[in-house]
Amino acid sequence: MDAALGPPAAMAEHREELTPMMAQYHDLCAEYDDSLVLFQVGDFYELFCEAAETAARILEITLTKREDSTGSYPMAGIPIDSAASYIEGLLEAGYRVAVADQVEDPDEASGIVERSVTRVVTPGTLTESELLRSDDNNFVASLARGAEGYGLAFLDVSTGDFVATGPDAAATVRDEIARFDPAEAIVGPDADAAAFADDCMVTAYEPEAFAHDAAHGRVADYFGSPDAHLGGDAEVRACGALLAYAEYTRGGEGDHDRLDYLTHLTRYDPREYMVLDGVALRSLELFERRSVHGSEGTALVDVLDETACALGGRRLKDWLRRPLVDADRIEARHDAVGELVSDPLSRDALQTDLRDVYDLERLISKVSRHRADARDLRSLKATLDVVPDIEDELSDAESEHLCDLRERLDGLDDVRELIRNAIRENPERELTEGGIIADGYDETLDELRGTRRAGEQWIDDLEEAERERTGVDSLKVGHNSVHGYYIEVTNPNLDAVPENYERRQTLKNSERFVTPELREREEEIMNASARADDRELELFREVRREVGEAAERVQRVADALATVDALCSLAAVAAQYDYCRPEVGADGFEIEGGRHPVVERTEESFVPNDLSLTRETPLAVVTGPNMSGKSTYMRQAALVAVLAQLGSFVPARSARVPLVDRVFTRVGASDDIAGGRSTFMVEMTELADILRDATKNSLVVLDEVGRGTSTADGYAIAQAVTERLHDDVGAYTLFATHHHDLTAVAAELNGARNLHFRAAREGEDVTFVHEVAQGAASASYGIEVAEQAGVPPGVVERARDVVAERAANVDRDVDAGASADVDSGAIESTTTDTSATADGGNADPSDDVLDELAALNLAEMTPIEALTTLNRLQRELH
Ligand code: ADP
Ligand code: MG
Repeated sequence: MDAALGPPAAMAEHREELTPMMAQYHDLCAEYDDSLVLFQVGDFYELFCEAAETAARILEITLTKREDSTGSYPMAGIPIDSAASYIEGLLEAGYRVAVADQVEDPDEASGIVERSVTRVVTPGTLTESELLRSDDNNFVASLARGAEGYGLAFLDVSTGDFVATGPDAAATVRDEIARFDPAEAIVGPDADAAAFADDCMVTAYEPEAFAHDAAHGRVADYFGSPDAHLGGDAEVRACGALLAYAEYTRGGEGDHDRLDYLTHLTRYDPREYMVLDGVALRSLELFERRSVHGSEGTALVDVLDETACALGGRRLKDWLRRPLVDADRIEARHDAVGELVSDPLSRDALQTDLRDVYDLERLISKVSRHRADARDLRSLKATLDVVPDIEDELSDAESEHLCDLRERLDGLDDVRELIRNAIRENPERELTEGGIIADGYDETLDELRGTRRAGEQWIDDLEEAERERTGVDSLKVGHNSVHGYYIEVTNPNLDAVPENYERRQTLKNSERFVTPELREREEEIMNASARADDRELELFREVRREVGEAAERVQRVADALATVDALCSLAAVAAQYDYCRPEVGADGFEIEGGRHPVVERTEESFVPNDLSLTRETPLAVVTGPNMSGKSTYMRQAALVAVLAQLGSFVPARSARVPLVDRVFTRVGASDDIAGGRSTFMVEMTELADILRDATKNSLVVLDEVGRGTSTADGYAIAQAVTERLHDDVGAYTLFATHHHDLTAVAAELNGARNLHFRAAREGEDVTFVHEVAQGAASASYGIEVAEQAGVPPGVVERARDVVAERAANVDRDVDAGASADVDSGAIESTTTDTSATADGGNADPSDDVLDELAALNLAEMTPIEALTTLNRLQRELH
């Protein structure tokens, strides 16, 4: 166990002798022994002993000491005002943080100030907006295992989004986790933590929380009996434990605080969505671009996100994470997008209004957790103010989806009125010092304010009145925080001071006085002011509680606004980048003029390409030199499928697509070196998954599979896989390969065809036309590229000979293995073909070049290696 956690050994030894404050610290550490305890002492959070040392190291803050009669304890403190960034540092270092606040006013405390843990900050249950991305969810996951399968739940504590599912296979558990990408997870006693990513904090949480009865009761308390809407026991247990954990992180005394804003739990079946496993999410770069050479690039989500508010940003990501497989639901979105595409004025107006929408979900969850301040309530109101405008913009909507959304928009007039009447404009952020409740809302408050104002007015007038009474024009009425109000008279005028002045303070050039009446008035103001502040806080809490009761209604409006925003975003992108409405549910892919949605934004002249994969011919082998466009072409097919099914238009002139149940991708080892995770074993494991799980409705994209092993093995595997996909699976398949022999296999198979990309010569340069064509690329495109690049004809010819000889060798002796060296006689004979003379011996560089060329083991080289070698050899000849 980490020594920084739990009660410090130095304190535990003599718990009974500790000072009351240190005893309190000790006990909180014992109670929250999975967390670093931040212990409020005035304006600071303090840590002691090992925890202090750990925090000082991680946060690079000063380590000091606290000494008392019982000992000397290392101590580190962080200012409360900037706690968030320090807490973030501790989270990043893998710690949970329990925040122990002073929960009573130190001035009123008799004896030691009471403290309690008001929240436990963990990576998956963050609610502080400084630590969250506004346009992305932050999930904590829970995994339980039962007799009939798994229970898996995801909760975003900051927004109240709560979903559950019951996968029956471990692989599905992994896929769903990859989709939601939780920051943290809790697992039940019999569940396996291995399904979670490395950067996810995983805890084996209290088995009692995962026990059936406790979990069932908790879920029922929030959402009614789970029997009707959750799948099975494991799901109930996962959800119940997650609720318990979320409550735990909110602190509270003994019994946990209920989280009232968790009003809905949505159960889904993974089969309702296109499966996108972790490999596919990464290789299609939906959310993150694999950094090539360390530079950050653009992912699909970046080119797709034109949302105007945080709600829409999160909704769009959810759609991208979970494309649909149901044609009706997909077409409902397409209808809505289509309508918004064809009505740019309404769309612009909607987006303008949506820009004024604050993060309703996080606001209402803050309200519910009693964390919202008066400004948050005003933001909520400001958002509700634009809802009627958005409703108006949608009044001419025709598509069912948009009409339905309009219906669900509700301005929540009662809530709006309440906030408008109760909370003043631009209220103070601090809740205890007044300045938050509007005039006219509460009689008592108005009276107190009246008294205060009258008193202040009397004092304002006092200066004038006293000047007149005393005849001293320089007399001043002032205020300071120590002595309160005073009347100041300069020394030369002290004779004029009336009887009822009492001396308060003597300065160098003047004296300060009070009068009994001034004192009385002052007390009146102070009293009224303090009581007004208290009253404001009381009223504010009442208003906040009342607004909190509308949580579910606010969430419904938020949900509708999120969807409207996401649809507008899809329409804006479709209109600006000339996407077309895809026809979904077709018997195959028929894409005309398809483009890669990300590459087309950076490539100056992107070349559109067609694609046809039918039920009869679902498989295509794609060949062509490196950099000719194979990977781009295949991924763009997968992206068109994903976009179509999430409800978006697609980058193409026209597109008919099937309903794909899953996209499989496999990028060969040598193409994934940047990712640093690919080994041949990984490659084969993924291949095994594909062959096991793909159906005829899957889209399989294989990019250079079989590179991680010897050419012979690699080729053998590629052919066997192709045959299996073709004969048994029947999945829509695109297979880019450097194994040219595979084109012969494709030519033989009924359901397969060859496609290729070529290189062309343009002046001195070899360029790629990025145009897909029917048929296989020529066998020796590597040499062709070399020729077009200007490698001397003799060398090119020799290279062709070498290829031919190699082929003959392989034919002659299948067991020859790697002994591909060409005999020296062949080198001799080629030198006579070149214009070089042999008399200079090694003085002629072409001799070396030829030696090296002859010694090349082409069987072990990839096309790109061959190209670079030829390029270098050529440079040596010049
Ligand atoms: P390959 O897989 O054949 O090596 P890539 O698909 O990786 O080739 O493409 C190489 C580069 O060519 C891409 O990074 C991209 O910039 C460009 N490219 C690919 N396809 C096209 C296209 N259709 N139009 C324009 N440029 C393209
Ligand atoms: Mg490639």
